Amino acid sequence: MNLKTALIHGGVSRDKATGAVNVPIYQTSTYKQEKVGVHKGFEYSRTGNPTRFAVEELIKDIEGGVKGFAFASGSAGTHTIFSLFSQGDHIIVGDDVYGGTYRLINSVLKRLGLTFTVVDTSDLTTIEPAILPETKAVFLESPTNPLLKITDIQAVAEIAKKHDLITIVDNTFATPYHQRPLTLGADIVLHSASKYLGGHSDIVAGLVTTSDSQIAEQIGFLQNAIGGILGPQDSWILQRGIKTLGIRMDAHEKNAAAIVEYLDNHAAIEKVYYPGLESHVGHEIAKKQTSGFGGMVSFELKEGLSAKAFVEKLELITLAESLGAVESLIEIPALMTHGSIPKEDREKSGVKDELVRFSVGLEDAEDLIADLEQALTHVSSSMEG
Ligand code: PLP
Repeated sequence: MNLKTALIHGGVSRDKATGAVNVPIYQTSTYKQEKVGVHKGFEYSRTGNPTRFAVEELIKDIEGGVKGFAFASGSAGTHTIFSLFSQGDHIIVGDDVYGGTYRLINSVLKRLGLTFTVVDTSDLTTIEPAILPETKAVFLESPTNPLLKITDIQAVAEIAKKHDLITIVDNTFATPYHQRPLTLGADIVLHSASKYLGGHSDIVAGLVTTSDSQIAEQIGFLQNAIGGILGPQDSWILQRGIKTLGIRMDAHEKNAAAIVEYLDNHAAIEKVYYPGLESHVGHEIAKKQTSGFGGMVSFELKEGLSAKAFVEKLELITLAESLGAVESLIEIPALMTHGSIPKEDREKSGVKDELVRFSVGLEDAEDLIADLEQALTHVSSSMEG
């Protein structure tokens, strides 16, 4: 089955009991047992729910895993993955991860006795020197949030395997439509499904899958033990969103290409970050490991121009956190999504105060460009004034 078809027909795509072409919302916490321990595969909805199971099977199929897991948020999924490790274990983390992941690591997991070394995984030479006897895993995003840095996932997975480490990839930005880390050698894939997989800014959800049946068993245990599961209604909405992922990603990419061309040639723009640009340092690797460059674009305004005044002047493009939705969303990472990272650490990884992150939506590109133009003209003329 090709991927666009699997998005619609993969996993559990209809209700076996009634023939309904959509899996129903099984709004139930528990299930009748015929005799003690004799049931139809479901006992209690934290452990398993048929609507959640449908979307878990779907992420497993489209990422090429052995088992899928749905969580109440991407962060709940991240936390559950890190719960695979024990006090004293050491994990290597990419230097440009989502601010909330950084917060989870620094304010929660370190307190519980895990240790971390932050490296730029897009530079492969940084990984081996960071490996300690107690290192257990490498955790990375590619493309990263918000700088869209690209890591050679296959190369990292090879290094990790050589040292008996697990490779964990947050695949939120690329989506399985464009990039399938398990096929590149990664062991665990994570999604904030609140983004492209859901696709409509209407749910908060996380999805996880793995290619390793032992890890799958452990994650299943932890999902049930910790309990951060996705409810049946949101599981249903998520499955509906995933069905259109293919056509949405094609359209996001087309619009992003038009926006990048506009921004890259604009006098008020200092720098554009987009893996589809030939000038992007990770362009060749992105071409090799993904089937598309996605809909996320970051950029810096020329010195002296206010990013805050610019985003506040936009009329059509929504000033909001989050990304990956049908509507265009724009934000300033330093003040919003990545505000929990201390300025010093943020700047070390290259996230300047004036960086703007743009999740290009599915509106008409001409309308988006007109909105950018009026806001850029406004901030440019304010400076002249
Ligand atoms: N990973 C990435 C790359 C993200 O952008 C986010 C959220 O913005 C998360 C993980 C966390 O996901 P959630 O907000 O669903 O908890």
